[in-house]
Amino acid sequence: VKKKGGQFEKQARPVKQAAVLGAGIMGGGIAYQSASKGTPILMKDIKEEAIQLGLKEARKLFTKQVERKKLTPEQMAEKLANIRPTLTYGDFGSVDLVVEAVVENPKVKGAVLTEVEGLVGEETILASNTSTISITRLASSLKRPENFCGMHFFNPVHRMPLVEVIRGEKTSDAAVAATVAYARAMGKTPIVVNDCPGFLVNRVLFPYFGGFSQLMAQGADFQRVDKVMEKFGWPMGPAYLLDVVGMDTAVHAGEVMAEGFPERMGSLGGNGEKSAIQAMFENDRLGQKNDRGFYAYE
Ligand code: NAD
Repeated sequence: VKKKGGQFEKQARPVKQAAVLGAGIMGGGIAYQSASKGTPILMKDIKEEAIQLGLKEARKLFTKQVERKKLTPEQMAEKLANIRPTLTYGDFGSVDLVVEAVVENPKVKGAVLTEVEGLVGEETILASNTSTISITRLASSLKRPENFCGMHFFNPVHRMPLVEVIRGEKTSDAAVAATVAYARAMGKTPIVVNDCPGFLVNRVLFPYFGGFSQLMAQGADFQRVDKVMEKFGWPMGPAYLLDVVGMDTAVHAGEVMAEGFPERMGSLGGNGEKSAIQAMFENDRLGQKNDRGFYAYE
């Protein structure tokens, strides 16, 4: 982890024009955050509906700021105009940094990254928002792996301050520097981490979910566990947090973590028995994304 003023900062090539691939939950949030802090961003998706949803979400967040008198309607219009929605790669030639935030599938990500690498300038940085796929693995399909790193935002992007900048085996200092500087320009707190399953945050978080899952298997009541963790001083307990993360995401990431750190994952991590989280997933109780998880949402 390098602090402000360190070598990364000095080397940074400024990001004047950014782009994000995918206008979903994360891509839309990244576009909003970049636009809000003044860096113009192209928001590309393959579906018009996704673009419209991404824009709607950004408009909603800006409108809230106008209501709270943090922005004037004119300022809102200016910031909103920083997001340029597109279904094509037309303007990608002049982009300094591209954040890839398409679906969590290595084949799709590999194809999209290869495609975009052929269209951007030689110095353009490509950064993936993957939660679980190895950066070194994704880099293997690229011609300029030195220009590629991870840029892992957390959901919801506009509220979560941390961004993990992940250095793959071949990532250059310049790519790390530009990505760190862009994260800071977006008002975030970047940390630089090496490439490994779960990076840093999920290496800490998933064993915690594993511990919670073990308690459930031993008959604990999830609401009581949540209350205990709140009394302990955490903003929310594990069941509520899993509802926010989504059971599908948790199961998928849990598998990746169990493969990387089998000894640490407890009953979340594929040791043969079905965890409470797996059972919720199989019963389509995904959490807040479909209004039912450990808790019910309206
Ligand atoms: P999502 O399904 O909401 O959005 C993905 C978007 O990508 C969709 O709109 C889809 O149309 C689009 N897409 C698919 N192929 C494309 C292509 N070739 N070009 C452009 N767009 C394309 O997914 P999400 O939750 O936003 O996740 C995106 C990425 O962010 C994943 O890698 C995920 O692991 C990661 N991530 C998600 C979270 C989270 O909590 N949701 C948190 C951190 C990181």
